Amino acid sequence: MTRKMQAVFVEQFGKPLVLREVDIPSPGAGQILVKTEACGVCHTDLHAAHGDWPLKPTLPFIPGHEGIGKVVAVGAGVTIVKEGDRVGVPWLYSACGHCEYCLKAWETVCGEAEFGGYTKNGGFAEYILADPNYVAHVPKGLSAIEAAPIICAGITTYKGIKETKAKPGEWIAISGVGGLGHLGVQYAKVMGLQVCAIDIDDRKLAHAKRLGADVTINAKGEDPVAALQKATGGGAHGVLITAPSLSAFKQGVEMTRKLGTCVLVGLPPGDFPVPLFGVVANCVTIRGSFVGTREDMAEALAFAAQGKVKADIELQPLTAINKVFDRLQHGDVAARVVIDFGAA
Ligand code: NAD
Ligand code: ZN
Ligand code: ZN
Repeated sequence: MTRKMQAVFVEQFGKPLVLREVDIPSPGAGQILVKTEACGVCHTDLHAAHGDWPLKPTLPFIPGHEGIGKVVAVGAGVTIVKEGDRVGVPWLYSACGHCEYCLKAWETVCGEAEFGGYTKNGGFAEYILADPNYVAHVPKGLSAIEAAPIICAGITTYKGIKETKAKPGEWIAISGVGGLGHLGVQYAKVMGLQVCAIDIDDRKLAHAKRLGADVTINAKGEDPVAALQKATGGGAHGVLITAPSLSAFKQGVEMTRKLGTCVLVGLPPGDFPVPLFGVVANCVTIRGSFVGTREDMAEALAFAAQGKVKADIELQPLTAINKVFDRLQHGDVAARVVIDFGAA
């Protein structure tokens, strides 16, 4: 094994990422080393590189939380994965396992959780250190490239849709049909929901239509709330907001049917005004949702392994990362870019 690896670092917030050759980390007790095959590029990686959120990562760090690869070394005491297993190193990098939230299998909100590509180095590198207790187990038949977007964009939308509690036959509105939303449309259809896709880009909406969306609305072209109320006869039973844009949030709350649930997953920096009277008078629930648990991960991956959900993928090399970030920032990525390490 060579001792060095290529990795891309955020060295300063808001500045281009820097490709460096660094030592390959070696797994300590309880850790594993994964040789990266593929890593998806999520809009969260942009927020991370810009230092957008109140909790900031320590510089320098390697982003990327959709990394998939083969286990090439295991540290002392590791029994649950073995060399050769294909695993994913997700956003939920690790949790404590014993707090009140972990005990309820809500490890995503554990106060001691670490985040891949954020508080721990991530997948924009040829090797990733991981915690075997929290890696995703990639089912046989799913390639590394196909699995990559599922371990963040897939699980997050799948879990978010579940959290709306919308039932088969009911309406779900999905605001933002990019990397997350284009998978959300597919999960929602598999779950038997009627889907209204909302975006500001007609190309994304045409894509959503091809993936099974029943109705599409361009939030730039018409009043999206009025259009959705009309199309659904009174609002969507569930709303999932993935758009990284604050204007989508108030609209999403107003799109929610009486007694319905609006789930927030998009994370643009800042706050949005809650239309208080409508939320109170219509008994609307607004809730957040943060990736998903290990159980959600297994379920989200199973849909993909069965071919029911398929990410639309554009492959790029690691050296193209700054161009990819720039395009993602400007809404110029059709669905998901995956960094392909196979070619390297
Ligand atoms: P993306 O850039 O691939 O897609 C965003 C989509 O939103 C694009 O299609 C864009 O055209 C659309 N959009 C922009 N403004 C809009 C508006 N006003 N109304 C409707 N649509 C609009 O991004 P992504 O990778 O899908 O990530 C989306 C957001 O979700 C990011 O903020 C990211 O940080 C967040 N995220 C949250 C979680 C979580 O666990 N809660 C997990 C992953 C990503
Ligand atoms: Zn992500
Ligand atoms: Zn915990």
